[in-house]
Amino acid sequence: MSPKVLNGKWLSKQFEQRLRLRVVSEKEKLGAVPGLAVLLVGEDPASGYYVRTKSKVATRCGFQTFDERLPASASFDDVAAVLTRFNEDANIHGILLQLPLPASLPENKLLDLIDPEKDADGLHPYNQGLLARGDALLKPCTPLGCMHLVDLALSDIESGEGELPKHGLPRGDLSAKHAVVIGRSILVGKPLVQLLLERNATVTTVHSRTAKIEEICRSADILIAAVGRPHLVTSGWVKEGAIVIDVGINRLEDGSLTGDVDYDAVAPICQAITPVPGGVGPMTVAMLMENTFNSFLRSITA
Ligand code: NAP
Repeated sequence: MSPKVLNGKWLSKQFEQRLRLRVVSEKEKLGAVPGLAVLLVGEDPASGYYVRTKSKVATRCGFQTFDERLPASASFDDVAAVLTRFNEDANIHGILLQLPLPASLPENKLLDLIDPEKDADGLHPYNQGLLARGDALLKPCTPLGCMHLVDLALSDIESGEGELPKHGLPRGDLSAKHAVVIGRSILVGKPLVQLLLERNATVTTVHSRTAKIEEICRSADILIAAVGRPHLVTSGWVKEGAIVIDVGINRLEDGSLTGDVDYDAVAPICQAITPVPGGVGPMTVAMLMENTFNSFLRSITA
């Protein structure tokens, strides 16, 4: 079997092009553009790379960007002061506190300080609560990106070629599908379960304490790995014809990036699969732009 390779780089570009046109149109009408603020604390090279990518994409979309850096020695109050300033700035509609933070800083307490209306990553407890209730203002970016990749897998759209149809990506029918999510983090695993349930999938979560994990994964029509263990998922974990979404980003000793899925072993047996890099990563960034744009629109109509 030759799988459909879910090209997140291409799909994210499609979202970006559409968004750019909408930003131009709103600018003509209102004379205002969305603003994205990103705060990076410390010198982690991977985080530095992600932050630069996010700002570059935001600029391409026509957004105003506000980048702030603090040293790893920054105190709680230093970080809180920047977040408060971002909250109060009417030109900022999306705020991203790049994670992970240095170990000395309490991640959750700082995320709690972000105005929920500007919480571009959807990690504020208010937004997580609304997500559980089924009417979130802002949904976490990586899970949202995964859902679009599942839709791409279920559509008859060629991945990586041409343009998306005028009406965008059709929403696939997940009724009667069994989705298994490996990982239960606040950032990925838990919100992903909510999004899959919203779409009527039957969902199982597995994690490091789950027994018979291979067997459960092998029953999945949709298998999503968000673990951070290179090549944990091998062919024995995957049902023939499954859709496999690999969220993991792992850096190997030779400096290359790989996912949680053993791509070469799994690809021949599945219906569709995301590559790493070039799968979920670019879609996460695209969803950050969508969330910021939606907050911008809400701020205008408020
Ligand atoms: P995390 O907070 O460390 O959570 C990892 C989850 O995996 C935990 O729930 C853990 O279980 C589970 N786990 C660990 N070892 C396992 C094993 N051997 N078998 C089954 N489950 C296991 O990580 P995260 O923030 O969710 O991120 C997961 C991965 O996705 C990382 O590689 C990260 O870099 C990547 N990521 C990618 C993007 C993107 O845009 N592509 C975005 C975010 C994250 P316990 O809860 O039992 O410990």
